[in-house]
Amino acid sequence: MKVDYLIVGQGLAGSALALALMDLGARVLVVDRVDENSASRVAAGLITTVAGKGMNVSWRQGEYLPEALAFYSRLERDSGKKLFHPMDTLRLFDGEKQRMKFENKQEQVVDWVEVADAEDLSEWRAEEGGFVMKRGGWLDTKLYLEVVRGVLGERYRRDAFLEEDLEIGDGCISWKEVTAGGVVLCQGARGFAEGGLFSYLPHRCAKGEILTVSVAEACEEAVISRNGWMIPLGGKLWRCGATYEWEDMDGVPTEEGRAEVEQKICDLTDLPFEVVEHSAGVRPILRKSQPYVGHHPEYPEVSFFNGLGSKGVTTAPSVAAHFAQHLVNGVELDESLAL
Ligand SMILES: Cc1cc2nc3c(=O)[nH]c(=O)nc-3n(C[C@H](O)[C@H](O)[C@H](O)COP(=O)(O)OP(=O)(O)OC[C@H]3O[C@@H](n4cnc5c(N)ncnc54)[C@H](O)[C@@H]3O)c2cc1C
Repeated sequence: MKVDYLIVGQGLAGSALALALMDLGARVLVVDRVDENSASRVAAGLITTVAGKGMNVSWRQGEYLPEALAFYSRLERDSGKKLFHPMDTLRLFDGEKQRMKFENKQEQVVDWVEVADAEDLSEWRAEEGGFVMKRGGWLDTKLYLEVVRGVLGERYRRDAFLEEDLEIGDGCISWKEVTAGGVVLCQGARGFAEGGLFSYLPHRCAKGEILTVSVAEACEEAVISRNGWMIPLGGKLWRCGATYEWEDMDGVPTEEGRAEVEQKICDLTDLPFEVVEHSAGVRPILRKSQPYVGHHPEYPEVSFFNGLGSKGVTTAPSVAAHFAQHLVNGVELDESLAL
């Protein structure tokens, strides 16, 4: 079998890259061994436009967010499936200091937020008030991966890629019976954990645990967030998270992780809840928590797309489109995406 690019991994990175390469007429084969706890299968899929304790607008959000929304919307049209759920996020302050910080920041975030009125806040533990983030929502990542797999059809293979099976030639590679112009490794955190060709890149991955809970009486149409978040999935179900753990990289749910997320829920609401699902995965994080693409310094036929961190839903489509232009049309790599 002969293709232009072999892509290893069909998470948010590999999926977006495969579609972007196909848009440019390249032939691809995507290989994935389907790790059940991969970040993309576990992720909440949330897009929050003002992030973290610092309440900052994410890197290149003004450019990347509209491109991501257009990308998911096109897939929705083609597949007839609802992938992205547009939704405001009600962000509650964790104290007076944070409220004052927000007031000083209003100019920087004005395009992305509105002041929350008392009615929005009444159901939640929001003693210090809060604000509403606009233009976000959540992507059903599992369904998205399934839809992309459908688009790939025979260009997708469930298999494990082992580097010892890879032969690198001059301007080509071969793996099993496949020959290609190059291979792009989109393995997320596993790409570092398993000592692969790019494990030398400075990485600091973070395990995250997440719960799906059933909450008595709750019916909201906004994501609720403070030090944790709750996403209404419909009916009484909410997805809630998430932890950040920097040492344990096995992607296995723990009692400590569950207790931490349960505490985050209790900090947001007094309503009783019951846990119906508990999962964990590892976020691939590189320098500055930014996505990166590039070639191996010794083997230019071997490339990578990784480092989606906690923002893969927003950043993957634009970065993939740029990298595809580089691979197929030789467009110079954007310096800030190159490690
Ligand atoms: C708990 C949690 C919550 C999150 N919430 C959000 C959120 O709300 N919003 C957001 O934008 N991001 C979120 N993220 C981050 C997001 O999930 C990641 O940025 C993104 O999924 C990373 O995608 P990826 O394709 O790089 O890696 P992965 O999703 O890890 O995909 C890698 C793929 O490669 C395959 N693979 C690996 N090695 C091999 C091999 N040797 N052979 C074959 N296949 C292989 C795996 O099976 C997998 O499918 C969250 C992450 C976690 C863990």
